[in-house]
Amino acid sequence: MVVTKFDTEKRKDMFKVEVDPDKCVGDEECIEVCPVDVLQLNNGKASPVRPDDCLGCESCVQVCEFLAIKVTEV
Ligand code: SF4
Repeated sequence: MVVTKFDTEKRKDMFKVEVDPDKCVGDEECIEVCPVDVLQLNNGKASPVRPDDCLGCESCVQVCEFLAIKVTEV
């Protein structure tokens, strides 16, 4: 999915990002792929520090081979 600046402005506050700490191995794949820096590493686990900025692109979900991330529309 291509994320444009227009999408960034239009789709704020619409998605909930959850990381399962039991599944996350802290490989930072999701952090690197997120176009708007929603996720950061916190105590070795990915943590959604800016969830309101999420665009719902699900790039983080797709890149996580441990199925640790869930993104849902709210
Ligand atoms: S779905 Fe994941 S990769 Fe996409 S904006 Fe939200 S947190 Fe970032």
